[in-house]
Amino acid sequence: MDARFKIGDRAFKANYGRHEKMVTCPDCLGSTKVRVILGDGTELAIDCGGCDPGGYRGSTGAVKQYDYSTEARPYTVTSVKVSMDGVEYELNHFGGGVYWTAKDGELFATVEEAMADGERQRAEREADENKRLMAKTKDAKSWAWNATYHRKCIKDHEKQIEYHKTKVQICAAKAKEPA
Ligand SMILES: [Zn+2]
Repeated sequence: MDARFKIGDRAFKANYGRHEKMVTCPDCLGSTKVRVILGDGTELAIDCGGCDPGGYRGSTGAVKQYDYSTEARPYTVTSVKVSMDGVEYELNHFGGGVYWTAKDGELFATVEEAMADGERQRAEREADENKRLMAKTKDAKSWAWNATYHRKCIKDHEKQIEYHKTKVQICAAKAKEPA
């Protein structure tokens, strides 16, 4: 396999940066609540699981997504390695003593070619990552578990309230008894 670039050549490689952004939660549309209807017809409003950040914080109504920006940077080829795996270049980016590496398919003679490659990678990665983040919002199983859990807590507390109420009533009844 022949290397397309040689030591001292100027070439371009695509780089992309990732920027975090928040978008309206697709499950609760930003309201932070969703409704769950149980088998007996009971309808509950529970915290949306899609935009729940976890921990003790409540649902936020927004989910994280990523934007990627692409740029083509100029490099100078400082070393060329040809092996069974293909061609690998070592690159020196202007303005720093740090080295980058690139495989043969990642290095281009023009900015336009490098940008086209960067855009292709960006589209792939953006779609992939955002799909994964959105998939989290479809996990309805744990929401149902949450609803069941909270209902159980309510029942337990209701029982306790009833118990404490009877205690207060007994005290009040006793107080009313003539001495
Ligand atoms: Zn939500």
